[in-house]
Amino acid sequence: MGLVSGLEVIDECVSRGLVAGAFNTTNIETTMGIVQAVENTGVPTFIQVAPTNAVLSGYEYIYDMVSRRLASVGVPVALHLDHGRTLDDVSESLAAGFTSIMMDASGYEYDKNVSLSQKARQLTPARYALEVELGSIGGKEDDQGPEREATTDPAQVAAFVEATGAELLAVSVGNVHGYAPDVRIDEELLRQVQQASAVPLVIHGGSGLPAEQLARLNEFGVVKVNVASDLRNAMIRTFGEAYAANPNETSLIRVSRQAVTAITDVVEARIRTLNPKLS
Ligand SMILES: [Zn+2]
Repeated sequence: MGLVSGLEVIDECVSRGLVAGAFNTTNIETTMGIVQAVENTGVPTFIQVAPTNAVLSGYEYIYDMVSRRLASVGVPVALHLDHGRTLDDVSESLAAGFTSIMMDASGYEYDKNVSLSQKARQLTPARYALEVELGSIGGKEDDQGPEREATTDPAQVAAFVEATGAELLAVSVGNVHGYAPDVRIDEELLRQVQQASAVPLVIHGGSGLPAEQLARLNEFGVVKVNVASDLRNAMIRTFGEAYAANPNETSLIRVSRQAVTAITDVVEARIRTLNPKLS
């Protein structure tokens, strides 16, 4: 099947009543781990990278690695730009072959958020999905905190979705990036946002949310849940444990393959938590 567009992943999830995980990659171990979990579960998925994590490789390497691995996979998977902050992020990732785009201008005032999101819409082909953000999700992503932190205002949702022409709306309803204690989604607020939104919703910060809330997101019009910290931690933990067990360890391939397995386990668990009916 190979890479598909973000719209295909959304449409398939909506028609099958599924929630897509969106998992951040940085390197080959993470990519291999994610795709193995996708094959194990058969759930359509986003693989994504943020500009802050593309500094090592650039978008082209990420595209080459992901698309090559997906060439033999029979499950729809899109390659998504996570937290594009500038129009250059959007055009560079599209030029590399990405099939789904997030423009995150949520750090700006409402009017500038709309205008930048509209420009991203003009750059993004209609057959690809565009995700935009209203309200600003807190917490730390790659050691960068948001410029401001604000919950999504349900009164702004309908007009924002209409004006931007986006297919996905990322919302700030108590969810935060990374690990923070006692994080919970405000389900009353999420319900109000859902009722105002003509498009499916996206929840960032999936690593820190309680499993019982993740398992219910499908009932709130959520179709995409971002998970990054869990995978990164699984990779780092694997190497840390190998070193702690033997400071003279030199089998990089053995530890790298252990990392792939650890990442597969984390991703598969998250996909199953998001889709309890999979059993
Ligand atoms: Zn995010």
